[in-house]
Amino acid sequence: MTTLTSQERLRYDRQMIIPGIGEAGQKKLKQAKVFIAGLGGLGSVSGYYMAAAGVGHLRIADGDCVEFANLNRQILHHTPDIGIPKTESALKKLRALNPFCVITALHETIRIDNVIGLVGDSDIILDGTDNIATRKVLNSASVSLDIPFIYGGVNGFNGTVSTFIPGKTPCFECLFHQQSDKTQSPGVIGPLPAMVAAIQSLEAIKIILEMDGLLTNRLLLIRGVDMVIKKIDVPKNPECPICGPDMEKRQNG
Ligand SMILES: [Zn+2]
Repeated sequence: MTTLTSQERLRYDRQMIIPGIGEAGQKKLKQAKVFIAGLGGLGSVSGYYMAAAGVGHLRIADGDCVEFANLNRQILHHTPDIGIPKTESALKKLRALNPFCVITALHETIRIDNVIGLVGDSDIILDGTDNIATRKVLNSASVSLDIPFIYGGVNGFNGTVSTFIPGKTPCFECLFHQQSDKTQSPGVIGPLPAMVAAIQSLEAIKIILEMDGLLTNRLLLIRGVDMVIKKIDVPKNPECPICGPDMEKRQNG
């Protein structure tokens, strides 16, 4: 049975006093396992907030090393970290932030042939990648392992977020089936991934605490240049190659 030490009670006091969290909620966070896919602008922020909130187990994956051009937004990584793996840089900061968090660092690029092993026995997949192709890989793992997938995307001054729960809501593929990475520009201003990843982190905490009101069946669009924030409905694609009837048939043998 999970218990909280006196130090943990002090550390998490300001969230444990929120009605609906309490000791029971904090124990749920401590038992939770979250997979963070990518330690760039999004994963930096969600990594910090997952560790700070007391999520007990983090699996963090990224195959890249820290470069100067990362530092305008990837706040887990500092100037002395240039050239070292992002997983190593992240591990150092997250352990310093919260030594109670058990972190597994996976210095690997996420691919279709290793994604299941990387995700492992995680309860949630948090998207911190920067391309649609890898997100489709994560989405297929989400659907086949029956694990919620929290998508976040950024481009220039724009951000998008949505939560996908296998078997209950549309999946990432339902929404982005026609889209590829061709039109994406690599430009990003730092606060945009921070905003998107903060929303993703809140969604992850709500899932762990078994709360309602998730950002499911909807895509949140953030237009930072004039601060227009809106939600659009996301329908399930009945012909979806990932979560549609063909997939159900495959799963039922
Ligand atoms: Zn789908």
